[in-house]
Parts: sequence; C-alpha cells; structure tokens
Amino acid sequence: MTIARWGFAGLATMAAAPLMAQTPALRPDQVRFRALYQEMVETDTSITSGSCTALADKIEGHLKTAGYTAEQITRFSVPDHPKEGGLVVILPGTSKTLKPMLLLGHLDVVVAKREDWQRDPYKMVEENGYFYGRGTSDMKAMDAIWLDAMMRFKEQGYKPKRTIKLAFTCGEETSWAFNGTQWLAKNKPDLIAAEFALNEGGGGRSDGHGKIAVANMHVGEKNAVNYRIEATNPGGHSSAPVRENAIYELADAIAKVRDYDFPLMLNDTTKAYFSKAGAARGGDELGKAMIAIAANPQDKTAEAILNRDKGYHSMLRTTCVATLLDGGHANNALPQRAGANINCRIFPGVSPDEVRQTLIKVIADPKMTVSKAETRGPVAAPPPLDPKITGPAEKLVSKYYPGVPLIPTMSTGATDGIFLEAIGIPSYGPPGTYGDPDGNGSHGLNERAIVKAVYTGRDLLTELVKVYADGSK
Ligand SMILES: [Zn+2]
Repeated sequence: MTIARWGFAGLATMAAAPLMAQTPALRPDQVRFRALYQEMVETDTSITSGSCTALADKIEGHLKTAGYTAEQITRFSVPDHPKEGGLVVILPGTSKTLKPMLLLGHLDVVVAKREDWQRDPYKMVEENGYFYGRGTSDMKAMDAIWLDAMMRFKEQGYKPKRTIKLAFTCGEETSWAFNGTQWLAKNKPDLIAAEFALNEGGGGRSDGHGKIAVANMHVGEKNAVNYRIEATNPGGHSSAPVRENAIYELADAIAKVRDYDFPLMLNDTTKAYFSKAGAARGGDELGKAMIAIAANPQDKTAEAILNRDKGYHSMLRTTCVATLLDGGHANNALPQRAGANINCRIFPGVSPDEVRQTLIKVIADPKMTVSKAETRGPVAAPPPLDPKITGPAEKLVSKYYPGVPLIPTMSTGATDGIFLEAIGIPSYGPPGTYGDPDGNGSHGLNERAIVKAVYTGRDLLTELVKVYADGSK
C-alpha cells in the first residue's frame, strides 16, 4: 500500500520540531484553544456520572465573554432529562440570499471506568504526541474547534455572508438517552435551519505513526433498524415432542438470514470512495477490485474479492444480522415462543419497510412474524456529493496536508447527521483532524487524539468554515 506522507517542511510553525518530540511552542491562540479543549474533556458528560448541561453552562459563559448576546444563545433541555441539555449559538450573516450553515457537535461521551483505564479518563494528559482522555477523539476535539472558531469570529468582528449556527447536543452515544439533535429537528427546526451541516464522521487516517495518510469527507451513512422475528406455538410436554417447534422454526429462519446477501448497491459517495481509495492502494488485488466495482457494479469477480473484507462487504449493501436470542420457558416444556433481534444497517435511501419485506421473503415461513422493533434514525435522503462542498475541502487538504488524497466515505455506523438529513439539511463530516487505524480508543479504553492532528485540524476547519460562510456554496 502506498502511503502519502505529510512532511513538516514548509509549515513555518512546526518546521523546527523534531519528529514525535514534544509539541512545538504554541501560539497564544493555540494556548487558549488547548485550555478550552482540556476543560471540555475534563467535564464528565457520560450518561451515568456526567452532565452535558454542566458543560453547556461553561460554554455559554465563554460565548458571552467572547461577545455573544443572550438573544444569540438558546439553551434547551427537557424536564425528564435535566442533565442532557444543549445549546445553540448564532453568528448572524450579512447576506439576504445565502442560507445559514450549521456546525454540529455532540457533547456526551461513552462511559469510562477509572479502574479499567491507565490514567484518569477525565483528566487530559499530553504524552508522546497524544492527548489522552475520554472524548479527546469522539468528539471533544471537534467540539472545541467549533467553539473556539465561533468565539474568535465574534472577537475579531468577523461578519460572514452566511449566518453560522453552532448546535451542541447530548445523547448521541446512548440509544435510549434524550437525543438533542433529534429534539431540535422536531421541535426547533427554524432555529437550526441551514442549507447544510458540518458534523463528525470525516477526518482522516494516519499511517499508524502519527502522520496523516488519507483525508476523508463523510457523506451519508447507513440507517440502523432493529427487527424482531418470532415464532409461536401451542407448546406441550417435552416428553412427547413434535417437529413443529418454535425454536426449530426460529433456528431455520435465522439460518436463512445468515445465508442471504442483500444485492450490491453503490451511490455517488461509495463510487468515489472505491475509485479513489482503490487507486491509492498502488495496484494490489483489493485496490484493483475497488476500482473495477466503481466502474462496473456488475463485476462479480471484483464483488467477490471485496466481500471478503467485512467493512467493504457492508459498504456495498444493506446488511442484517442476528444479535439477540430468546425462547422457551422451561427445561421440560415445548417452547411456546422463540424470537431474535435482527439488526439491519440499511443502505442510504432504502426504506425500513422494504427491508422488512425482504426479510419476510427470505425467511419464507408464514409461521414467523417479522416486525420492526425500533429505528434509531429516520429514513433520510443521502446528502449529495456536492462539488461546492467537496471542492473547498479538497483545496484546504492540499494546503495543510500536501499530497494527501481526500476520499469521500459513507459510514456503515451512525451519527446524528441522519436527524438533520431527515429535515432536509444534508450533513457532511469534513476533513481536518485524523486518527490512527486502530480507532484511538474511541468508545473504548485510553482514548487519545493525535496532538498534531488536533492543532492542524483546527486551522483547517476554521478556514473551511470561513470559506463556506463567505459563500463558496
Ligand atoms: Zn461521536
């Protein structure tokens, strides 16, 4: 695999820094940014022991110090979830015709257990070129970048053409929590109305040694939907069994789900992804298959090669998998009921009902019921791969990370962007920061962010917001 390398040469502020040594001297604006980032990481916002509302209080204080008026700041929460509040701040634009843009960040983090971590998860420690702490990577670096940009814009008297809105919400990491983005989309659509939004999900990947190898723009994501499949039976005494048995019926149905592969699908984003990421692989078998599938979705040989990689297999289609199982009620009774949860990750734009119909057809057993259990996100139109969005991002990637390709990606996971897309705000994950191939402990242990990636990402993203705000789109 060929890897583009980002050299220090030419970057005046870092030119003298030896590789992987301590951070070069910070500019005064970086010192303040670092303090904001640290405060965000050190304010516990996990669902069990933390409070997004407490962090939103601190953020509101900073915004007011920077010069925002009370009318430009909206706080929100609901009585049942007092600690899961958020905030929207607005920097008015001068244009009467350009629509606003929205920056989105979730304040909450996944729970971190002190006893499992090497260091206190709610203390930000800088070590060996990394910031350690819960949320350093997902997603308080971007939160701090958005907040810092909004504060500096105000302080500098910057008057964007396009109104810039920033929404900080809670509940992204916990499916049963109060989801602030979903709530805003439903209850305050005018407050967050925008032509497009910038959110997490993009960024880039390092070569595993702290240097960026590829930059990504997140354009669209799959929709996570759970279905319950269930068999029922009159049951009876297990001493006189019959073939008709809810557990057997369920087992047969699950085996059919296992053996079914949804048909291959591509959209503009995944086509661009496979052709560009394939080209960057330098001619290996997987790279050739990626280029081939982008050119011709009917290429079965290429599809077979890509299907061996579980990530690519999932990017190319809707997937459904059995994740939970229950059945029977006693050791010595024929089961009256047996069921399973089928977790589907639906290709953008495909409706959950269509997938339910497919499951019914695949299972092909009238005794089995298939019902939609719960949907995380709404059915959302996938955001277009718009050159007015990708163009400026590409330019800034070549400025800050010369030689590094910008590759659009469609996430097989989920972000809050899907709630915005459902009300007509296409949501993009811009490049800027980048992480290591191992995921940097996001959601896991000893979460960390690459120091260089955070500072360079901040410069890139702040400039990108200004380019969009001044009407390039
Ligand atoms: Zn996140």
